[in-house]
Amino acid sequence: MTAQKKSEYAVPKLKDFSAKALDAAAKKLLAALEKEAAAVSNEAEWKVFRDRWIARTNGILTQINDQWLKVAPKEAKRDAGQKVNELKAKVTGTVEGCEKKEIKVAVTAPAKIRDSLSHQPQPVSGTLDITLPGTRRPLGAEHPVIKTMNEIVGVFRNLGYSVEEGPEIETDYYNFEALNFPPNHPARDTQDTLFIAGQENKPLRERLLLRTHTSPVQIRTMEKMKPPVRVVCPGKVHRNDAPDATHSPIFHQVEGLAVDTNITFCDLKGTIDHAMKALFGSSVKTRFYPSFFPFTEPSADVQISCIFCGGKGYRDGARCPNCKASGWIELLGCGMVDPNVFSFVDYDPKKYSGFAFGMGVERIAILKYGVDDIQLFFNGDVRFLEQFG
Ligand SMILES: [Zn+2]
Repeated sequence: MTAQKKSEYAVPKLKDFSAKALDAAAKKLLAALEKEAAAVSNEAEWKVFRDRWIARTNGILTQINDQWLKVAPKEAKRDAGQKVNELKAKVTGTVEGCEKKEIKVAVTAPAKIRDSLSHQPQPVSGTLDITLPGTRRPLGAEHPVIKTMNEIVGVFRNLGYSVEEGPEIETDYYNFEALNFPPNHPARDTQDTLFIAGQENKPLRERLLLRTHTSPVQIRTMEKMKPPVRVVCPGKVHRNDAPDATHSPIFHQVEGLAVDTNITFCDLKGTIDHAMKALFGSSVKTRFYPSFFPFTEPSADVQISCIFCGGKGYRDGARCPNCKASGWIELLGCGMVDPNVFSFVDYDPKKYSGFAFGMGVERIAILKYGVDDIQLFFNGDVRFLEQFG
């Protein structure tokens, strides 16, 4: 706004205070107000505009207060007061409205930008610009542990197994006693098992703990189901282990159970061999050697031929670090269900036999995806997890 524009309008001194004369004077003032407001195009100009109209000392509003209202004769005061109040509201409204008006980029932008902008569809202030890209929500993916667990379960579902689940907080009875763990078995030691606190007054078999394996689900299944039984039990388990590259206080297992007449160790071997080939490829070999678990007799540990060196023990002219040059990797435990376990669920051990197996899901995921630290599965780092999408 220039000094010249400013001087265009000046508040006249009134001689005639009739309603008609006040109206006419007000009309002129408002015309000047609108003209000057329209000319404002940046913040500095707006400030000059504001001060000219509403500054306390000698702003136009102050002037009309002094010259139109204060000096009005008694009989005209009422009309003059009303008119001045109307004008005050309009002037203040226009000045404030002018401040909120968008100062257009095109006014100050270099010619090139201004030209390019003028070809773009200009959004009307306060409306939605549907030409802008939306906020993208990245699609989630299955966690590698859940993905692996589902793959393992899928292998057994294809063999006709159904899926059973059970509680993560178990009683000592289901977690240990019914699985033929003797009362003094070291697995019950609090160094291995996380017990719920404050249960010293309860009998041992009723004490609650975080299940250390998914085997209690096998007992619960046999309690409610008569043979033939073919189930897999996937789920989360807990041990009192300090976290490091190969241990975690929380991990996942898939266990399986088959009970029927005439089930033999050959059925167990054939089933496990098939499952390992389905998970790691048809060239993988399996071998069984004696082991011990309280709930199976006989028991076996299963090894698969090393998937990194093809069972040779050496690769790229060096010892294979994954199998420590042995050509074999230990992967799971299994065995024929101990007849003592059947007595807990009222199965006749003379009539029925069965096998059970269990594997750690993280262990298999580590092998399948070449992960070197089990903690990566639980840290929640998206950069790691999104690789499995
Ligand atoms: Zn190897």
